[in-house]
Amino acid sequence: MIDFDEMIDNYIYRESRPPEIGRYWPSMIGACIRKVWYTYKHPKQIDPELQKIFEMGNIMHNFVVEVLKSEKNPHVTLVDYERPLKIEKKDYTISGRVDDIIMLKRDGKLILIEVKSHKNVDFVKEPARSHKMQLMFYMHVSGIHNGILLYIDKNNMKTKSFEINYKKEEAEKVLKRFYLLDKYLKNDELPVAEAKYEKDIMWMCKFCEYKDKCKKDEK
Ligand code: SF4
Repeated sequence: MIDFDEMIDNYIYRESRPPEIGRYWPSMIGACIRKVWYTYKHPKQIDPELQKIFEMGNIMHNFVVEVLKSEKNPHVTLVDYERPLKIEKKDYTISGRVDDIIMLKRDGKLILIEVKSHKNVDFVKEPARSHKMQLMFYMHVSGIHNGILLYIDKNNMKTKSFEINYKKEEAEKVLKRFYLLDKYLKNDELPVAEAKYEKDIMWMCKFCEYKDKCKKDEK
């Protein structure tokens, strides 16, 4: 008997290399800053189940690209996808990939689209703070100031989308988070347990693989 689960596990498995201090990604910056700090100082192998969730996200994203490219949707043009972006600061680098850039044919407006797969979009009532931060960063760096966060359901392809307006002060807050993260890491200084104290992100602690360590460090 062929074990297909095992074959999928083999295909998806890749050894995760510990992250390098000084190299950061926009997708990480909306998470609890202490948790991000732990991932650099006390790296763990990515859980294979989590890797499957990431893979499913890639599959859904590729599907969205096909939809946007399709001649069946002539009112939009897919201008670019997975465009790499990089900011080189004096002491550190931030690099990432913008998901999709589309142009509305009617008014020539460029829009950045950040795609997030979700297990049930009916429960998405507003865009997640971390996703907004990521998109704000991309809008800032790309100079394209129209954004959409697109949530797509992994079970039935239903979507929910939110228009996100660029706000310079919010983008600057995101940039400041990178600066602080770099400083905390290089000074070996443990950041505040952000998610324990901010109501709208308290849920992050429930899924945090460092919660025991964080509790000990709070003492
Ligand atoms: S347990 Fe909560 S506060 Fe502590 S690192 Fe994890 S997410 Fe942050």
